[in-house]
Amino acid sequence: MASQVDEPPRFFVLQDDVWGPHDTQGSKVEPINRGDAPHCPRCGGAIGMLTWLPPYRVELELYGQGWGDFINGPGYNVLISERFAEAFRAEGLTGLLGFHPVDVVRVKRKRKGFKPGAVPRYFTVTVCFSRAAVDDGRSRVRRLVPVSCPECLTPGRDSIHGFTLEPGTWQGEDVFRPRGLQGRILVSERFAGFVKRHGLTNMKLTPTQEFTWDPRRLGPPDAPPAGPT
Ligand SMILES: [Zn+2]
Repeated sequence: MASQVDEPPRFFVLQDDVWGPHDTQGSKVEPINRGDAPHCPRCGGAIGMLTWLPPYRVELELYGQGWGDFINGPGYNVLISERFAEAFRAEGLTGLLGFHPVDVVRVKRKRKGFKPGAVPRYFTVTVCFSRAAVDDGRSRVRRLVPVSCPECLTPGRDSIHGFTLEPGTWQGEDVFRPRGLQGRILVSERFAGFVKRHGLTNMKLTPTQEFTWDPRRLGPPDAPPAGPT
């Protein structure tokens, strides 16, 4: 398949599958200890929320019929099930850090009539910050205020109607937070295949070119993005 060799890698935005059959939410339980937020090495601005320090105690709320393998949160952390963690490590995927077991101190079932089974063991992980950078010139984004820091690409955009990464900036991580969109989790095609193969639940993957974020309903930008150079 020589024709595919030059295809640029595809990426997906990872979100939890809210209202899906394995919709599970997690929140911290006291005592809650926090450390510094991650900062941009160039401008010093915060590029994430305060870090969560032990003890890792959580309350889980189950909105679906069964427990999800992925829980987006609390905060900048994510929770993953033991089978997710074991498969991720066994296959040598990269970009998740920590793998600390969490203590599930309370569970709340929000839907009656289902027997979700035993709560799996969960681990808390953080997602690495990548050198990969959002390429505004090749993306359908609106930016009302110009970029003030070339490293973290702050401030953020005002709307997104599909985006791509700057060629050559991604260094192969399977799960990562890109420069310029640190609040989002991106995953590789390899990770997308891993999720499908293992049937991991409560994960929604949207190709970055189809990802839309437009809270102020500004609509897509007037000018199309530049083509490949
Ligand atoms: Zn910066």
